[in-house]
This record gives sequence, structure tokens and C-alpha cells, in this order.
Amino acid sequence: MESDCIFCKIAAGEIEAEMVHEEEEVVAFKDINGRAPEHVLVIPRQHVPNLEAVAQLPDRVAKRLLEVSSEIAGRLGVGASGYAVRINNGPDAGQEIFHLHLHVLGGRKMGMP
Ligand code: AMP
Ligand code: ZN
Repeated sequence: MESDCIFCKIAAGEIEAEMVHEEEEVVAFKDINGRAPEHVLVIPRQHVPNLEAVAQLPDRVAKRLLEVSSEIAGRLGVGASGYAVRINNGPDAGQEIFHLHLHVLGGRKMGMP
């Protein structure tokens, strides 16, 4: 755990978030500033800052991030209508939080930027 990382604190229950899924190595919670009718963040409990560090995650966790994204989309009712799974990586993508996270966005047309 990184002591100054807000997503590590959410995963540890030290900062409140609207959790939608919790399991041993992955958690998901509502984005505090939802940009779509459904907007959930899926994160590994283990701190990795970005995709360049994804090799630090066990393979099963990297896979689980994708599976959980799909499961949550289904649970939110957008599995059939469709949804986007997005990772903002680095300055040009506007990454604000340096703990790897997948945005699950749905409930409206999610075009390419
Ligand atoms: P990015 O790093 O660009 O992928 O964006 C980080 C995302 O985290 C933004 O969509 C924020 O709205 C969201 N966010 C920041 N703080 C919190 C929080 N405490 N709880 C839930 N979502 C958050
Ligand atoms: Zn972290």
C-alpha cells in the first residue's frame, strides 16, 4: 500500500467510496464524478501506478480486472447495450490518479474521443 494513494485507501476501507464489488484482489466502486449514467472504477488492491507497471500484478489479477469489468457491466444492466472500458495512462490521457484503474462507462453511447 502506498501511504499517499487515495485508491489504496479506498481498497483498505480507510476512505469511503460507494463500493459495487469487493473480492480478495480486486475492488470496484462508483466514480465520484460520474461522466456517464453508469461509471464505475475497477482497481487491483495491489498498488501499481500505470500500465508500464502492470507486470508487477499477478497474471490472474490482470485477467480479473477485465472479468470484473464485464461482470459489473452486466449487473449495472449495460452488458447487452454495451459499454466502454477505459484506462487513462499518462499526461495526454489525463491520468489523475496513479493507481491503475479501469473506467467502466455505460448507459449512453460511448464514442471514441
Ligand atoms: P483518471 O486518473 O484520469 O483515470 O481519473 C481518475 C478518476 O478517479 C476520475 O474519474 C475521478 O472522478 C475519480 N475519483 C477521484 N477520487 C475519487 C474518489 N474518492 N472516489 C471515487 N472516484 C474518485
Ligand atoms: Zn494505490
